[in-house]
Amino acid sequence: MGWSTRLARAGLVQFARLIGLSKLKHMSGAPLYVVNYHSVANADVDPYINRNRYRTLAEFEEDILFYKRRFRILGALDVKEILATGKEIPTDAVVLTFDDGLRTNYDSFVPILKKHGVTGTFFLCSAFIDNRDLHYGRKANLLRQTLEQRKDAKLNLAVRAYLGDHDLFRESVDRSISAIDYSKKEHLEKLADIVGINFGAYLAQHQPYLTSTQIREMIETGFTIGAHSIDHPRFAELTQDEQFEQTVGSVRSIVEEFSLGYRLFAFPYGDDALETGFFERIRPHVDLTFGMGGFVQDPVDFNIQRGDIESTGLPVADAFRYRLLLAWVHNLRRPERR
Ligand SMILES: [Zn+2]
Repeated sequence: MGWSTRLARAGLVQFARLIGLSKLKHMSGAPLYVVNYHSVANADVDPYINRNRYRTLAEFEEDILFYKRRFRILGALDVKEILATGKEIPTDAVVLTFDDGLRTNYDSFVPILKKHGVTGTFFLCSAFIDNRDLHYGRKANLLRQTLEQRKDAKLNLAVRAYLGDHDLFRESVDRSISAIDYSKKEHLEKLADIVGINFGAYLAQHQPYLTSTQIREMIETGFTIGAHSIDHPRFAELTQDEQFEQTVGSVRSIVEEFSLGYRLFAFPYGDDALETGFFERIRPHVDLTFGMGGFVQDPVDFNIQRGDIESTGLPVADAFRYRLLLAWVHNLRRPERR
């Protein structure tokens, strides 16, 4: 974030404090507040992922206490039930959601949620459950990290030659590997062979994702589970048929594997790229879907937008008011979405 953006945001945060939570809730016009988390600060085995801003455990617990104090915490299934029966959504409803199905969720979030008697919904990628496969971005990170640590000129030349031969070279080896997108992810397997990395061995050793045993235990405790695509592509890079398969395919797989009586889905990287026709296509196959557009109402009745709290780096009350203020600004600019 540049200094001017930081300054503008600091101004908005101050402004939001002056307005206050109750008024902002009213102004935002949001029907409910669905918040989203992924992981815990410095808890990941991937050093590049650790550069992302996450809550520390203490901050996360503060967030939970804030929600408990100021809101009524509902589960995603409560929302499904309310929407299905046409009842009014309580005006102070918060829903907690967690994306990516990382083991840190089980190790860190679940104990805190249980301690405070709070429910939440966890969105998992069907291909990563039980550490069967690794996200392509994490594969790229592991390649970059290994090359950086080895500092082996000959190895670097071999990698550079491969990148050059496949029209993947951009500025530097590190840049090139980080720029490999979903459609070219097979090249990461070839590069791993050159570098001598075994993704399967890495997965077995570090277990970055939840296991089905942990997931079953979470379901028995009362948490809900949804799908987050098969292997976390950017939907903007996919055809509509591929988007459909990533959505409906992963929902089916998770519903079957865990015998769920509901079908929930959260779009990886949000739902900006998706057309109305796509939502009509998936409508018969899902109960609720979730985007990352903030605390705003979506024109699609079963698609619910969520607000990111963890990456703001702000205390939860400020983060929450800031998101509400952004939702109000969003509604002013796009009145047709109301
Ligand atoms: Zn995700």
